[in-house]
Amino acid sequence: MDISVLSLDKKTAVITGSSGGIGEAISRAFHSAGANVCMCGRNTAAMQRISESMGNERCYIHLLDVKNRDQIRKAVDEIEDKIGGIDILINNAGITQDQMCVRMKDEEWDEVIETNLSASFFLSRSAIKKMMKRRRGAIVNVSSVVAFCGNSWQSNYVASKAGLIGLTRALASEYARYGIRVNAIAPGYIETAMTGTLNDSAKERFLSAIPLERAGSPDDIASGALFLASDRSSFITGHTLHINGGMYMG
Ligand code: NAP
Repeated sequence: MDISVLSLDKKTAVITGSSGGIGEAISRAFHSAGANVCMCGRNTAAMQRISESMGNERCYIHLLDVKNRDQIRKAVDEIEDKIGGIDILINNAGITQDQMCVRMKDEEWDEVIETNLSASFFLSRSAIKKMMKRRRGAIVNVSSVVAFCGNSWQSNYVASKAGLIGLTRALASEYARYGIRVNAIAPGYIETAMTGTLNDSAKERFLSAIPLERAGSPDDIASGALFLASDRSSFITGHTLHINGGMYMG
């Protein structure tokens, strides 16, 4: 193995939420590492823009609303028919719908759990069925630091992200013997559209809790995803990589 670079040469990677900050950075990093990249999401225009900026080569777009179980059920078959076997799945699509528990509507709970947790289970289930036959595969679930330290007004989000950690460990243990590795990343405070809506005092509070004294960038998460998806992490499974500037040292 060439240990000088992180290569995904000849691998096919599926990334959900590719139109968002972290998903775009992961798509770009994987593309630079030589992968065929299948960007999944709802925002075609954004994904087309990203694809064009990467020269429209080794880039594919798959329209996918991860809350739509029918679309999720068909996605893996459709992608494999179009571009071949999936080596890497990044479950990155995610939302927040913050509210105090006592005021949280049923729909706010359901939507966050469905998008952040259930969709990752359903997509992983379909992908694993294919990966098992090839006896190889890498799945990375994008969780959050709040899965470990909790956060007020986010019981739905925190539960979904903690659920992802459990899902990661369960699948890692169940499918290791098929050569499939399943890991998670727990990002801290990363500058994207998701955190762009925080008010200044909330941003200040987050920043003051980060020993490295800066917010993370989507590229910081992409580097971790690249490592966990590549053969350089071939003896790592069931792990959670904390990328948070030191705000939580689990
Ligand atoms: P973002 O810029 O808001 O991106 C979220 C992505 O998820 C978008 O591409 C969005 O697509 C997609 N998505 C949401 N609902 C979807 C659905 N039903 N079907 C398909 N795609 C859907 O946020 P981000 O910061 O990059 O977040 C990426 C992941 O990192 C999330 O799982 C988030 O929870 C996690 N995370 C982020 C931070 C942070 O500080 N930013 C910290 C910890 C964890 P649309 O454009 O179609 O809505």
